[in-house]
Amino acid sequence: MDPCIFCRIAQGMEPSYPVFENKHVLAFLDNNPFTQGHTLVIPKRHYINMFDIDEEALEEVVSVVHLLVKRYEKIIGMSGVDILNLSGVDGQQTVYHFHIHIIPRFPADNLVSWIKSIPRVESDLKSTQKKLMSD
Ligand code: AMP
Ligand code: ZN
Repeated sequence: MDPCIFCRIAQGMEPSYPVFENKHVLAFLDNNPFTQGHTLVIPKRHYINMFDIDEEALEEVVSVVHLLVKRYEKIIGMSGVDILNLSGVDGQQTVYHFHIHIIPRFPADNLVSWIKSIPRVESDLKSTQKKLMSD
């Protein structure tokens, strides 16, 4: 099977704009940015998404997300940041190699929030809590 697009980027087989690399993790610019500096952080090893990735690999990725957020705060003066992962078909994932988006936010950047809340029903919250805490 052909390697996926992000495996190809991690292996240097596909052009990208890398901004950080260590032994296990690569970060590069999203080629369809939501805002200036929109970055994708990936494990170099192929994991499909949040359902698939193991804890150690996830920790390595999250640690780089944190490092870059601190760095970007200084360098580009972003006043906010959105950290995003889309997993699975209904999560609207489009590239099936685990990645975390770092989306720098700026005053009046006009990036709309696409997530809307459902009506709040107290009894639903209670039954959902019960369900989610059972093994
Ligand atoms: P998602 O919907 O979370 O799976 O997002 C995939 C992201 O990957 C999108 O924001 C795309 O713009 C981005 N993307 C896809 N192909 C490339 C590429 N070759 N280089 C950089 N970013 C890419
Ligand atoms: Zn891959």
